[in-house]
Amino acid sequence: MRAIRVRETGGPEVLRLEELPTPEPGPGEVLVRLEVIGVNYIDTYKRKGLYPVPLPFTLGEEGAGVVERVGEGVVGVRPGDRVAFANVQGSYAEYQAVPAERLVPIPEGLDARLAAALLLQGMTVHYLLESTYPVRAGDQVLVHAGAGGVGSLLIQWAKRKGATVYATASTEEKRAFCRALGADYALPYEGFAQAVKALSGGGVDVVYDGVGKETFLGSLEALRPRGMLVLFGQSSGPVPPMDPQVLNRMGSLFLTRPTLHHYTKDRKELLWRAGEVFRAAREGGLRVKIGAEFPLERAQEAHEALEGRKTVGKVLLLP
Ligand code: NDP
Repeated sequence: MRAIRVRETGGPEVLRLEELPTPEPGPGEVLVRLEVIGVNYIDTYKRKGLYPVPLPFTLGEEGAGVVERVGEGVVGVRPGDRVAFANVQGSYAEYQAVPAERLVPIPEGLDARLAAALLLQGMTVHYLLESTYPVRAGDQVLVHAGAGGVGSLLIQWAKRKGATVYATASTEEKRAFCRALGADYALPYEGFAQAVKALSGGGVDVVYDGVGKETFLGSLEALRPRGMLVLFGQSSGPVPPMDPQVLNRMGSLFLTRPTLHHYTKDRKELLWRAGEVFRAAREGGLRVKIGAEFPLERAQEAHEALEGRKTVGKVLLLP
């Protein structure tokens, strides 16, 4: 089978198309023939070595497709079933052996493209808005990179919950997209903290920040006293170490750095979050923008586009 491998960490040029043996599903595993592969920002961190993975490895951790074979001891999954998964390393490939417990059935009426476009980022939005800081009607919420994969879903879900939503994005075109998704205000990054503080009458209740280094301090400044900064990513680079006393000085603020893995800790939680996200998409409450699709062998270009801030919504690879 063909797969995109990383033998040394670095820029998009380290992504190489290689021929590998098709994996055999081990005990408890299922062999999935991938139809669609989700590209996520975390793939760039792993490619660069920011999140270390033992070399060499197959990149990617999200996909959707059809069950080809099941390993020993697997019950409840059969060849031909349509499935999706997130947070399982090795999806930039034609086939992947996936632990059965990490598979999510794709509901009738939802196509594989939508499932792969939605699962990881949708569940992320679900835990961020339902669990990390449960947003309530009337809350004021700031979302950075509002036109991105996670950001575009965050805006919509927060609006569904009755929040006032402030979004940032780097271009007027992206800001118009944020408004079309329901954002009440779409702002450039320059001076966002002061603008949000003024518009919200003293600061927002929560900031969802996946940009990191370049927005971190402004995000703290944009909060009301006792507000919460949810730092969930670092597309502009890692945030340098900080003195916790800063949180005191800036208004007894809360800071958390969550990850999806800890919010899908068992099968029940995984199926609950995936089910709610898929249902919202099927009922029309969540618009999924597939901003770019590339054939698997052009994974380098997909990474260049994502890191070059040229994409809106979700980026997919097609094997
Ligand atoms: P996006 O589609 O949001 O792409 C990243 C966006 O970040 C860009 O489009 C760009 O939007 C913005 N950005 C701001 N500054 C920079 C910069 N210096 N370089 C590059 N981009 C920049 O990606 P994803 O939706 O895949 O992920 C968004 C964030 O969410 C990432 O940080 C990711 O790691 C995180 N994440 C975290 C999870 C968790 O559980 N903790 C799970 C899933 C994702 P603009 O041009 O508008 O600035």
